[in-house]
Amino acid sequence: MRLNNIAVTILTALTLLTSGAEAKSVTIGMAIDDLRLERWQKDRDIFVKKAESLGANVFVQSANGNEETQMAQIENMINRGVDVLVIIPYNGQVLSNVVAEAKREGIKVLAYDRVINNADIDFYISFDNEKVGEMQARSILQKVPSGNYFLMGGSPVDNNAKLFRKGQMNVLEPLIQSGKVKVVGDQWADAWLAENALKIMENALTANRNQIDAVVASNDATAGGAIQALAAQGLAGKVAISGQDADLAGIKRIVAGTQTMTVYKPITKLADTAADISVQLGEGKTPTSNATLNNGLKDIPSYLLTPIAVDQSNIDSTIIADGFHSKAQVYQ
Ligand code: BGC
Repeated sequence: MRLNNIAVTILTALTLLTSGAEAKSVTIGMAIDDLRLERWQKDRDIFVKKAESLGANVFVQSANGNEETQMAQIENMINRGVDVLVIIPYNGQVLSNVVAEAKREGIKVLAYDRVINNADIDFYISFDNEKVGEMQARSILQKVPSGNYFLMGGSPVDNNAKLFRKGQMNVLEPLIQSGKVKVVGDQWADAWLAENALKIMENALTANRNQIDAVVASNDATAGGAIQALAAQGLAGKVAISGQDADLAGIKRIVAGTQTMTVYKPITKLADTAADISVQLGEGKTPTSNATLNNGLKDIPSYLLTPIAVDQSNIDSTIIADGFHSKAQVYQ
């Protein structure tokens, strides 16, 4: 009897311990490059909400486009003992050491939207970024089949910026070869900031005596800066220009006719899936992948989503239908 009681007590204690261990929630550190850009605020909000709904705790930090700040923030998250690091790198080339440190502590690392090169990361989630670039160039070519093109790249230290350019060139190269398209300038906007794109575009217009027919801009922030420079010369709406992210400001410019297109990347899908994957990684599971990407060190299991080209004709059936922005926000 007494022995039985002891056995029951021990069993109960063991059950509590095991269920306690199972119930231990996953702690995620989310290191974001730059919350000053509209798109990342959306990513954060959706990611945090989903991860919390799965029982995880999330700490978020933004490096505001600063390499050292981001490294210090990641170190801090490692010291806090997070289970999973979700990193949107400012510079994907410089994080190998800090990732190695995380791995030594048994922390799982997910590269979110931008890959981290030459680092032992566990998973990568993004969109098909080369396709994004192809969509941008194709839409602009449809409007301006020949003429003077200016290429406005993104941050030179963001691997995605290079993939967008690769996609753009896949489409433009044959036309450059045949002489239909003449590239009159090609620059990269540091930190993807509109103010940098504005200066680049002002200089490009001056250098080319305003003879620019089309601008292949890699996202909405840089398109916004470029359009400000075009507007100052009375050229907004006359020069075709691409974008990316379906930022509210970008969509409004499409409605107003000053921006030709954007690339809508359903962030809800990205952030929800990423939250799911992070929690699985934290629980020691192997998340489902649909691609692999070599980051210079190894093949990274990856999950890539499909982007959607958006112009005036399909704003309603994409962005508004998905609730990404409301009809009132877009058309008011
Ligand atoms: C993202 C874009 C974004 C840009 C600037 C890129 O890595 O893929 O969606 O516009 O960074 O934040």
